[in-house]
Amino acid sequence: MSRTDPLIEGAFWQRQNEVIERTFLEAEQLHHLKETLDSVYSNVPFYKSRFEKAGLIPGDIRSLGDLRRLPFTTSDDLRAAYPFGMLAVSKEDVVRLHTSSGTTGKPKAIFFSRQDIENSSDLIARCLVMTGTGRGDILQNMMTYGMFTGALVMHYGAEKVGALVIPAGPGNSDRQISFMQDFGVTAFHITPSYALYISSLMQERGIDPGKDLSLKRAYLGAEPYTEETRRKIEYIFGIDVYNCYGLTEMNGPGVAFECMHKNGMHLWEDHFLMEIINPDTGEVLEDGEKGELVLTSLRREAMPLIRYRTRDITRIMPDNCECGRTHRRISRILGRSDDMFIARGVNIFPQQIEQVLMGIKGVAQNYQIVLESFDDITVRAEISKDLFDGNIEHLLDLQTEIADKIRAEIIVKPKVELLEPGALPVSEGKAKRVIDNRTM
Ligand code: ADP
Ligand code: ZN
Repeated sequence: MSRTDPLIEGAFWQRQNEVIERTFLEAEQLHHLKETLDSVYSNVPFYKSRFEKAGLIPGDIRSLGDLRRLPFTTSDDLRAAYPFGMLAVSKEDVVRLHTSSGTTGKPKAIFFSRQDIENSSDLIARCLVMTGTGRGDILQNMMTYGMFTGALVMHYGAEKVGALVIPAGPGNSDRQISFMQDFGVTAFHITPSYALYISSLMQERGIDPGKDLSLKRAYLGAEPYTEETRRKIEYIFGIDVYNCYGLTEMNGPGVAFECMHKNGMHLWEDHFLMEIINPDTGEVLEDGEKGELVLTSLRREAMPLIRYRTRDITRIMPDNCECGRTHRRISRILGRSDDMFIARGVNIFPQQIEQVLMGIKGVAQNYQIVLESFDDITVRAEISKDLFDGNIEHLLDLQTEIADKIRAEIIVKPKVELLEPGALPVSEGKAKRVIDNRTM
């Protein structure tokens, strides 16, 4: 791919940050790490006692490698500290509260200072510039506004680069499509599951997104999805899809983002320190090895977190990106350790099943995995309408193909149910893919 990155006026310093030499980057990281450790030690009793238990004071952390001497912070720690226990500044210096969307367990309260808002907007601005969005673009933001960071953080960053932002939120899907038509929307920000739903609705309404709309690119995040799903969405809409990763605890979206090479997401290492660990033992793994992503915020003021276990499974891509950015990349999130389930003793992520489904002709947008026992999985997949033409043979063949291909991927052979498009519930926020009906 020979496309070069666009630069918007005034963003040159941003680009400088992105291609910073690693030695300078690491020196900067160490400086901000020390500041962060001083802050949490002095202001957050939870961290002070953590240091004491480890027999350390912030001054003992002299190199980036020394970070490993500190224990992890977990989402349970955040819940235990609810509501204000993790705050490192006075309440008067907090300007915004977000909570995680609570896909798993009760919400965690995350605070932002004015500078935190500024930094999170800057990072999104960097991501948008990197992928060609700027002044003149019209960005339809179809993520949920509210306690979830997905929409608001993107909103601020997109305004910063001078795009016109339509704060549509999710839902009211016919209106979403009209907005795209009426305002000439060029970019949109959406969950993968909602993008698939919108695409099928467009097809139903006889709209060809490639011809009838001005869309150029989409930013997809908030939930794991596969390369096959990306390709499918790119193909249907005739656009470029960029993967956008983030979590409320670390500002929200824009922690890691794909450049135009679409080969892994650059994790912005001037704001976050990353480690990959073995989720069972806590051992830090080498670049390239798959494990749980652990992040330390380097510049968050209101609520910095040290060695925070994201529960997201990925790996650091060891080679350099062709774009020249020096911030290392992580692979697509392979799954959340919370989503992993075990059937017949095999560890399975829903994305492994999605990858198979999205590669099979005739399989439509939506699917669900139902767990009834510890041995059996049922995969319920919507398929294209024309396959329900009364020809049972076709359906049986497809059913067998799906079951066999999934078995080849995850070892366990699932029961497969084929459904008409629209039969499964559509989620406008994060999709719920696994229905667990098992009782212990
Ligand atoms: P939660 O979903 O845990 O309530 P958040 O709303 O903060 O909390 O969402 C953050 C989580 O969403 C991440 O930890 C990750 O699991 C998931 N996520 C966000 N972006 C992506 C992405 N691009 N690919 C895969 N997963 C993502
Ligand atoms: Zn790159």
